[in-house]
Amino acid sequence: METVQIKDKTFKLYISKEQIQERIAELANELNRTYEGKEVIVLPVLNGAFMFASDFVRKLRVEPEIQFVKVSTYGDGLTSSEHANVLLGLNKGVAGKEVVIVEDIVDTGYTLQFLRQYLSSIGATSVKMVTLLFKPDNYQFDNPPEYKGFSIPSDFVVGYGLDYAQKGRELESIYTLI
Ligand code: 5GP
Repeated sequence: METVQIKDKTFKLYISKEQIQERIAELANELNRTYEGKEVIVLPVLNGAFMFASDFVRKLRVEPEIQFVKVSTYGDGLTSSEHANVLLGLNKGVAGKEVVIVEDIVDTGYTLQFLRQYLSSIGATSVKMVTLLFKPDNYQFDNPPEYKGFSIPSDFVVGYGLDYAQKGRELESIYTLI
């Protein structure tokens, strides 16, 4: 069994880098069909989505505008927070544009809900989300992300952009807590 040790925790291989890349190609194809001929802003959520976003946008054929947003997240703990804040906003307007938020993981959905409201309030025409990982058991809202890579149990995962206490983001596969 492939494991990684990060600080005080041991994680085991959960989704391989090959599985991740295969699924990203499928998600990009879906987006390519939906947004063909449209003006789209792709909006990765920092920090966790940087790895997924960079592989994902390379497979898009819709010539997106790419901006970044940063919202407050977990801190160093293992549980989610109901409080989200914009820490780094958009440098150009989204008014009249179709926005696709790119997230690494949707857990309770508070971050997503907050971003949807924020983007609508500054004039986005439509707001959809692609997330690599989705934890349906923890999700607190009625409208789930439109595009999901993998639905997973509520266990804590690291790798491929996701951290444990800021470590493990560089791993190419995704690992789950043992
Ligand atoms: P939500 O607002 O949906 O509860 O949480 C979204 C954020 O919580 C994600 O962007 C991510 O930073 C963090 N998060 C949720 N689940 C996990 C997990 O299993 N591992 C890691 N590393 N972060 C997680």
